[in-house]
Amino acid sequence: MLDKTLTDWKAAAEAISIEGRAFIDGRYTHSLSGETRATLNPATGQELAQVALCSEADADRAVMGARKAFEDGRWANMAPADRKMVLVRWAELIEEHAEELALLECLDVGKPIADTTGVDVPSAVRTIRWSGEAIDKVYDEIAPTPHNTLALVQRLPLGVISAIVPWNFPFSTTAWKLAPALATGNSVILKPASNTPLTALRMAGLAAEAGLPDGVLQVLPGPGGSMGKHLAMHMDIDGMTFTGSTPVGQLLMQYAGQSNLKRTFLELGGKSPNIVFADANLDKAAAMAAVAVFYNGGQTCTAGTRLIVQDQVMDEFMEKVIQHSQHWMPGDPLDPSTRMGPMVDKWQHESVAEYVQIGRQEGAELAFGGERVLAETGGYYHEPSIFTGVHNQMRIAQEEIFGPVMSVIPFSTEEEAITIANDSIFGLAGAVWSQNINTAHTVAKAVRVGTMGINNYFGGDITVPFGGFKQSGNGRDKSMHAFDDYTELKTTWIELD
Ligand code: NAD
Repeated sequence: MLDKTLTDWKAAAEAISIEGRAFIDGRYTHSLSGETRATLNPATGQELAQVALCSEADADRAVMGARKAFEDGRWANMAPADRKMVLVRWAELIEEHAEELALLECLDVGKPIADTTGVDVPSAVRTIRWSGEAIDKVYDEIAPTPHNTLALVQRLPLGVISAIVPWNFPFSTTAWKLAPALATGNSVILKPASNTPLTALRMAGLAAEAGLPDGVLQVLPGPGGSMGKHLAMHMDIDGMTFTGSTPVGQLLMQYAGQSNLKRTFLELGGKSPNIVFADANLDKAAAMAAVAVFYNGGQTCTAGTRLIVQDQVMDEFMEKVIQHSQHWMPGDPLDPSTRMGPMVDKWQHESVAEYVQIGRQEGAELAFGGERVLAETGGYYHEPSIFTGVHNQMRIAQEEIFGPVMSVIPFSTEEEAITIANDSIFGLAGAVWSQNINTAHTVAKAVRVGTMGINNYFGGDITVPFGGFKQSGNGRDKSMHAFDDYTELKTTWIELD
């Protein structure tokens, strides 16, 4: 896979066969209406495949199958060691099909093939394998109760879960949801984002091949506003896990409240601060400042889009950042040397261009990029773009742009850096760069976010929890903490004669 050239990947893309049907009760199936919707390749704007357009009726059918599967215990009552075997086999099958899945993700999302082969697919494999391997090592509790009593505290699966995911990391986010939800014995109905459903559909077939019983995983592509809302309002769904935007997360909480109070866990947006002190390793910090915003075209919830720089090194540091940014010019995602691909679709492309316009109108200085490029390809490409002289109250410092746009904000003191960093409705991630252990720890502790890096950006792996403070959400993906989102605690109190 690593030695493949652009020509090889193009040939593979021509030859790939794409499954666009929904996956319900263990098999691929058309939507009840027979309706389909095209999914496009963001690198060309051309149709990639027709995908089932599932409606509320399909959702009801899938919920019924998932409920039956849960109630008869075909998965929930299986010994954890046996569930482990299925999940580990599933991870192996994904690994065996890594090239196909990486290519599908590249074509559907516009992610560079170097990322889908090197990051997205391996990370999904690790997540599924790790959760599978963990589940037969989790013990429940016996409480410290009086002598003639015994109290058991057990974790039980919630039941039927709906998982609703976004388009920016479809494969790895899907794995973050499915692995702990399935490991803990639930049945899951997955709704992929309408514009990026392909890898989720393919991985469902592999799950069945690995031995996951019918009905335990249903995958329904379809519109969020109708079919997604129907799932969120459904009276026969016990839990909902969501990754996506903050406004949709707010709706989902309302839907849960208006229906059956299904447990609702949200992973939402961000506007993350990346704070650079004058005493930092400026070369490393500059290289990572570019990665933090331009990786995945800035379509990353944890993107370090607010670069907060101590004023005495601003000019020197920004010269280095701009140099690194030149290596992020977008290109064909099938080319193994491409670091940044197109925006996911034409709406996102337009939205990024609008924010560049807003930044100009707000009086920030466009220090790099700012244009849409490669129009002749039909794809949705945008240059990496940097605004300097940004004030934290500007819209480009407060709103999630979800594109390759960096807002650079100066500060002078440690307190000011912390105040700026925390002056946001979001609290997902951030980083601080300093060689001084006191500065680094004081700032890292004070910034109210779920994940904070010290002298790195995007640090973390499956062993640590991931999620947001404030309006960045409430649940936690990854690590053993993710199991909490998918289980209820049950107490059994026994009196001994
Ligand atoms: P989105 O909120 O528009 O859509 C996410 C999912 O929700 C999609 O599947 C969509 O079809 C569905 N949906 C939309 N409206 C719905 C409704 N009314 N009811 C039910 N479902 C509905 O988000 P997006 O544009 O796909 O993704 C980008 C957003 O996701 C950004 O805000 C980003 O920060 C966030 N995100 C967060 C994390 C995290 O872990 N915190 C990770 C990745 C992305």
